[in-house]
Amino acid sequence: MQGVGFRPFVYRTAARHGLKGEVNNRTDGVAVIVQGDPAKVGDFRNDLLSHAPPAADIKSIEVYPRLLQEFDSFSITLSLNIDDQITEVSPDIAVCPDCLSEMDHDPRRMDYPFINCTNCGPRFSIIESLPYDRSHTSMKPFRMCPGCQSEYNDISDRRFHAQPVACDLCGPRYTYSDGVKILYDLKSILRETAALVQAGKIVAIKGTGGYHLLCDALNEDAVRTLRKKKQREARPFAVMFRNYDSLREYCHAGREESAELTSWRRPIMILKQKKQLAPSVSNGLNTTGAMLPYMPVHYQLFRMLATPVIVLTSGNISDEPIITDDVTAEAELGKIADALICYNRKIINRCDDSVVRIIDNKTALIRRSRGYVPRPVDLQLDAGNILALGAEQKNTFCLGKGKQAILSQYIGDIRNLAAYEFMNEALARFSQLFRFTPEAIACDLHPDYLSTRLAIEMSQEFRIPLFRIQHHHAHIASCMAEHKLDEPVIGISFDGTGYGTDGTIWGGEFLIADLMDFTRYTYLDPVALPGGDAAVREPWKTAFSYMYKYFGSSFDFMSVKVFKQAGREKLELLAEMLDKNINSPLSSGAGRLFDAVSALLGLCSVETFDSEAPLRLESAINENADEYYPFAAGRPVVFREMFTSILDDIRSGNTSVIPVKFHNTLAMVILEVAEQMSRDTSIKKVVLSGGCFQNKYLLEKACNLLREKSFNVYTNNRVPSNDGGVSLGQVVIASKRLK
Ligand code: ZN
Ligand code: ZN
Ligand code: FE
Repeated sequence: MQGVGFRPFVYRTAARHGLKGEVNNRTDGVAVIVQGDPAKVGDFRNDLLSHAPPAADIKSIEVYPRLLQEFDSFSITLSLNIDDQITEVSPDIAVCPDCLSEMDHDPRRMDYPFINCTNCGPRFSIIESLPYDRSHTSMKPFRMCPGCQSEYNDISDRRFHAQPVACDLCGPRYTYSDGVKILYDLKSILRETAALVQAGKIVAIKGTGGYHLLCDALNEDAVRTLRKKKQREARPFAVMFRNYDSLREYCHAGREESAELTSWRRPIMILKQKKQLAPSVSNGLNTTGAMLPYMPVHYQLFRMLATPVIVLTSGNISDEPIITDDVTAEAELGKIADALICYNRKIINRCDDSVVRIIDNKTALIRRSRGYVPRPVDLQLDAGNILALGAEQKNTFCLGKGKQAILSQYIGDIRNLAAYEFMNEALARFSQLFRFTPEAIACDLHPDYLSTRLAIEMSQEFRIPLFRIQHHHAHIASCMAEHKLDEPVIGISFDGTGYGTDGTIWGGEFLIADLMDFTRYTYLDPVALPGGDAAVREPWKTAFSYMYKYFGSSFDFMSVKVFKQAGREKLELLAEMLDKNINSPLSSGAGRLFDAVSALLGLCSVETFDSEAPLRLESAINENADEYYPFAAGRPVVFREMFTSILDDIRSGNTSVIPVKFHNTLAMVILEVAEQMSRDTSIKKVVLSGGCFQNKYLLEKACNLLREKSFNVYTNNRVPSNDGGVSLGQVVIASKRLK
């Protein structure tokens, strides 16, 4: 892995053991030739594994003998091949312990907030073009001082060829403005910021890949004000803790969680709460999105702050992309924040904080951006040059380039104009960075997705083939690609919505799939959505639709609280829409079951943010139980009996067990149908993908049940199981079809 100081590391290690030879990058890895005492060569090999830079990722070391070649010294051979250089775009790396300690001791970089070295610092967010050197990054305007220059040139220095190398004399600086005064001195900036946070105010600060808004996460008034000003009613805010100890005071974190939280990627980790923050941070959910400091200034700020935890949320308005540009920040975030902290280096590539969760003891990505992008996913097959434009919400696109798939950063919902523009900008950047010209384009089957329309335009403009790929097939293929599967599998895809081959909405799909094609074995019983997409935001309507479908108009709707609240008039209107089939498309989406149950339980009748109803239902699991509800696993899988039993449980006041029993039911559905499919096909490999599998309880339960029956289970780990991973699936299916 390059761009993370690996070659200088090899050089220094070889020099330490008195070995001669050379090191160079190749597309398939790093090649090292060493010559010298065999025992020392052995030590050298061990040191490569045990002392590698944190962001390096050594998959294997293969050793071959060579004919003797006389070397005078050890050298780094620079690559001239452009194809080799594309691997040099590294993700952004959190500040390393060496740099942090230098900030306390080293006179040259004492308290300097843009300190970095070959092992750490910004990368993806500052790169404009290749090859990766300073003149192609937003460090370009900062001319190195003699001190930095000599470190940069000295191969034995830990800043050898660190492109963003800088110090207080020559590098970027922060400025603070609050409308009244402007501050340039960092100590004053930090002191002023701390005072504002202490007083319950909001501050906007420029981060690695975009602006953040921050306030005291223990101050309910401050958090509420932030919500109001940001026009975001209820979606949980991410928080940053001072350090690992304070995080553990408020959240539960196991071994896997801790390892990822403290890694150089520093993602937001979804953790179970131990102690309450300001209630408005998580708004009733039992989880917290927590992260640890990763920029030097975060550490410096926490030294001044009384609070051990701050809200640190994307600096944007509503659903727009995170703001990166200083002028926009001043105009837009100036309305929200009481002060704005900026620095004078441009953010070239917008990059949100990544969001992850540990599910089934593995990292599951929910939002894949900073720290992960643009690191490629290795493929089994050669993808040639394929561009996949993904889905619509949580959009990412993906470049298939040879045996690698390079996914874009999280783009967001491209129905938002600014997000759509962001996608186009990122597309241009990636094409340039990775020297990419598509030979084919892949997109979703949905005719109305903006990504589909763009794909059609591009395929006509470039006169290249277009592959329209069914949404859930793409979900399954994304997981197959990660695990290098290229054979028929049992693919189970549960999500909210996706366009089916029959023109209806799919989302609870059991597919016999390979990378080429699929057949739909069975699916969850479709329900009509009165009002179409709008019903998705009003789960009580979906609940009504299920009841109406299974129990008819004679059902005593007034006996259920959520329907009683809606009132007879609204119910009659819905019934009429369903009877006459007015704007009531059918959906087999698994998400709709979560919506209905969540509404019946009174957890969420109208959503204030995306996926609120399922999140609240998962959050309401508060007991251990293996019980589940009856269902009929035919074609389709029918839930009449489940709803009968849920209503019984509600009437008898037995509500607290419903969330866990409902989740168990879905896991049992997965098991039972998988067993049927396996009997029919003899396939034992089950691939689970789709947004519903971000649900930790459901995925773990399903995995355990399947493994007990000796199925091999595969889940998404390197790309999201939600629509953020769809573009990867599209790439592999299109490349297979192209061949
Ligand atoms: Zn460092
Ligand atoms: Zn300098
Ligand atoms: Fe999906």
